[in-house]
Amino acid sequence: MSNSGYKIVLTADRTLMSEYYGGLFLGFSACVPKGLISDRLYFSLLCPSVEVNRDGSARYAPCGIRKVEATLLNYGFQREDIIVAHPEHIDKVVGPDTKVVGIAETDPLGIGPATSSFTGLLGGEAYMAIKFRELLNHPAIKRFKPKIVVGGPGAWQLESVEARKELGIDCVIVGEGEKVVGPVFEKAVNSETLPEIVRGEVVSEEEIPIIKGPTICGLVEIARGCGRGCAFCVPTLQVYRCLSLKHILKEVEVNLRAGRQPLLHAEDVLRYKAKGFRVNKEAVINLFRTVQNHPGVEMTSLSHIALSSVLDAPDVVEEISNILGLGEKAPWTAAQTGIETGSPKLIKMHMAGKCKPFKPEDWPEVVVDSFEILSRNYWLPCGTLILGLPGETEKDVDLTIELMEELKPFKSLIVPLFLVSMGGLKNRADSFILEGMTNKHYELYLKCWEHNLNWASTLVKEYSYLSIRGRVAQYGLKFIFSYGIKLARELICRCRDDYDYDLPTMIRDARSGKIKVASSLPAHLAYQLIKLKMR
Ligand code: SF4
Repeated sequence: MSNSGYKIVLTADRTLMSEYYGGLFLGFSACVPKGLISDRLYFSLLCPSVEVNRDGSARYAPCGIRKVEATLLNYGFQREDIIVAHPEHIDKVVGPDTKVVGIAETDPLGIGPATSSFTGLLGGEAYMAIKFRELLNHPAIKRFKPKIVVGGPGAWQLESVEARKELGIDCVIVGEGEKVVGPVFEKAVNSETLPEIVRGEVVSEEEIPIIKGPTICGLVEIARGCGRGCAFCVPTLQVYRCLSLKHILKEVEVNLRAGRQPLLHAEDVLRYKAKGFRVNKEAVINLFRTVQNHPGVEMTSLSHIALSSVLDAPDVVEEISNILGLGEKAPWTAAQTGIETGSPKLIKMHMAGKCKPFKPEDWPEVVVDSFEILSRNYWLPCGTLILGLPGETEKDVDLTIELMEELKPFKSLIVPLFLVSMGGLKNRADSFILEGMTNKHYELYLKCWEHNLNWASTLVKEYSYLSIRGRVAQYGLKFIFSYGIKLARELICRCRDDYDYDLPTMIRDARSGKIKVASSLPAHLAYQLIKLKMR
C-alpha cells in the first residue's frame, strides 16, 4: 500500500460491490428505497460485500471497471499506479498523490427504470443513489480533491451541468471507454483541466481488452451491443460485435484463478456470432461446450437472452441444457429477458427489432412459446415489462394482463418497470410516473408480483445457497424470504379484494393506521439470531 495514495483509483458504489449470492433477483434489491428494512440487515444479508484485500482493493469488481483497468494498463500506466478499490476502504487508497478517481455507475441518480419504479411507488431514495453520493463525499476525496471521472451504463444521467456541479464531478464518459479513458486519465494525472463530457466511440472487437482481474460473479463479456434498436434503449447498444473464443477463455481463466465460475454476458447470449437475427446454432453450442469443458469449470451460467432467439432455436436451448447438465447438476439456470408488453401495436411502434425474425403481431405467441421452451429445459426467465410506453392505451395494458395470465404456469419472475425517457425516446417522450398509473396499471403491477410470489416459495427452496457462508445465515435468509413472501401475498390479496387494485388508497390507509400491516419484527429477529451465531 502506498501511504500517499494511488495515482489512479477505480471504484464503484457499494451496491455494485456485491455478488448478491449470484442471484439475479436479489440484485434488484439495490433499486428499492432505503428504509424498507434496516441498513444493517440490507447490507449484511441481502447485499453482502465482496471480499476486500488488506490494501483496500476489491477482490472482485464489476466487469466495466476491470475493462477500464485493463485499458489503462494497455495505454501505458504502471500497475503500481492503479488500484481497483472497495468504496468502503477509500481512505486506504486516496492520498496526496491521488490524481483521479474513476467511478463506474449503472444508476447514479436512482432514475433508471427499475429504481424509479420502486421509488415511485414506495417513496424515498434508492440505495444506489445514496451510496454514490456517499462515495463522492468521502472525507478522503474531499480532503485530497482528486479529479472525479464517472462512466458506465448510467453515465447518461450526469450529462446535465447542474447534476455534475452539484456532485462535484469533473468529467463524464458516455459510451464505450476503450478509445477515450487513456487520454482522459492522462490529462487528469498531469493535473490538466478535463473536458466535462467525453463521448466514447464504438470500438471493434479487437480493441476490447482482456481483463486483468476477476469480476463480480465471474462475468465474462462475450458480445457487445445489440442492434435490435428498441426506442427506449441506450444508443451505445446499436452496434453488435462478438468476442473470439480465445478472448473469452482467457477471461474465464482469470476468473477461475480467483475461484469464480464463468457467467457469460451479452444482451442476447443466444445470438453469439449470429449474422442478423437468426441464431448461429453451431457457434452458440460450440461456445457453451468449449467453456463448460474448460479445465476447472463446473458450471457456466449466462446473463441475458432474447425470447425471439429462444423460439428461433429451441434445439439450441435444449442442447445447452444438456451440456450444462441442468435438471441434474442444477435445478435451473436463470436469464434476464425483455417481454416489455403484450401489445403487438406497441412492439411495432417502439421495438420492432425485438421480435425478429418474427413479426410484431406474433409477439404474444413468441413470448408464451419461448417461456414454454425455457421451462421444459430448466431455464428460469427473469422478464421485464414496461409501463407507460408512448401511445399506450387501456387496451394495450389489458393485452399485457392477458399475456401475464398465459405465463402463469411457467416458473419465472416478471418485474414491471416504469418507462424512463432515455435512448431514442429522450426529449421525445415523458418518463412514466406514479401519477400516470391507472387502476389497470395497478392490476397489471400486482398481477406480476402475484406471479412472482406464487413461484417464489419454490425458488427459495431450489435456490443454491452454497455461496452463503454458514447454515444459520442460509436459514436466516430462507426465513426472511418466506416471511416476506407470506406478508406480500396477504397485502396483494387485500388490495385485490378490498380495494379493487387501488394501491395508492391502500398505501394511504396503511400509513394513516386505518389498516394494519405486519411489522418487520420477524426479519429483525432473524438478523439478531444470525449475528449471534456468526460470532
Ligand atoms: S433488445 Fe434489449 S438490449 Fe437490445 S435494443 Fe432492445 S432493449 Fe436494448
